Amino acid sequence: MARPRVRDDLELMEGYHSPQVDVAVRLNTNESPVPPPRAWSDALALEMSKVSWNRYPDRSATALRRGIARQYGVEASAVFAANGSNEVLQALLLAYGGPGRSAAVFEPTYALHSHIARVTGTRVIEGRRSADFELEAAEVDRVWAESPTIVFLCSPNNPTGMLEDRSVVERIVDQASERQALVVVDEAYGQFAEWSAIEMVDDDRPLVVSRTFSKTWSLAAARLGYLIGPEWLVESLESVTLPYHLDATKQLAGELALRFVDEMQDRVDQLVAERERVVAALAQLPVDTWPSAANFILFRPRSIGGDVVWEQLLDRSVLVRNCASWPRLDGCLRMTVGTPDENDAFLGALAEILNE
Ligand SMILES: *Cc1c(COP(=O)(O)O)cnc(C)c1O
Repeated sequence: MARPRVRDDLELMEGYHSPQVDVAVRLNTNESPVPPPRAWSDALALEMSKVSWNRYPDRSATALRRGIARQYGVEASAVFAANGSNEVLQALLLAYGGPGRSAAVFEPTYALHSHIARVTGTRVIEGRRSADFELEAAEVDRVWAESPTIVFLCSPNNPTGMLEDRSVVERIVDQASERQALVVVDEAYGQFAEWSAIEMVDDDRPLVVSRTFSKTWSLAAARLGYLIGPEWLVESLESVTLPYHLDATKQLAGELALRFVDEMQDRVDQLVAERERVVAALAQLPVDTWPSAANFILFRPRSIGGDVVWEQLLDRSVLVRNCASWPRLDGCLRMTVGTPDENDAFLGALAEILNE
């Protein structure tokens, strides 16, 4: 058989991988360490028994979008929901990127921004953050000179954990307005941070903010994400969205989750307290860290290579993300804040490795 060949530009691309290894302490993918409230799964089971499964679900996910909108004091028409925020990003790239257009990212940042851009045929412009991972005005200007139609920011940034300054985002949004470009702020970890670009969203600004139920809401398995943006933009995404892309289960999962805002906030508060405890403990070890506004911490062992430390943590059944060979992240590892016990196991194992 002469096998059909994938697109030339895909042939050279690698897929996105995050190893799923079976270990006792899994701190590598920034999920919530605890399941959603039991009352949520009970409510979901009950509501699912009432669904008309022979019928297509609500195509515009009205109740879900209304619920999300209420959280932020905006209209449902300012909310677009999709299968994880990765699909939100894909929809944006399909509509505003594509062949002949380009999207800018500032490395190091979330790998999926450039990956999904390439999959959609969008050229990637690689901006660089400074040595301490800040976004400098001169570098932003250099990137604008290449005329991107989309600029991605990530705040708090994955994998550094650092929050973008409001003034930095404001300046980029103002520049985008003059250039007919769109600014996408990925706030997958927004609930852990002190300020959000959602407060800047307006029908007169080319700005959208994406969020997800995967991290704070303990619902990574539900695959549900959304954006808050101008009404005209949300409308424009209809042309790239498949009919009924949000199934009935997912719509219910999201709607019901919104009944548990207080429980969600408790989890966020606990994780933030744990994050501060882990940061303080890391300060006693021979590692460099960066200030985190998220539920994970980037660190770099000073005297032993990141790869070696990663392996030795794995030997002790602790899995963290190995960023040691990622561009600009020489020797770095990223740990997701877990339960107090998981964090203790991580800190104990790390101290043992570094003090040997
Ligand atoms: C985890 C993560 C996402 C989440 O993607 P989902 O598809 O919603 O699970 C998006 N952006 C960043 C920066 C992330 O780290």
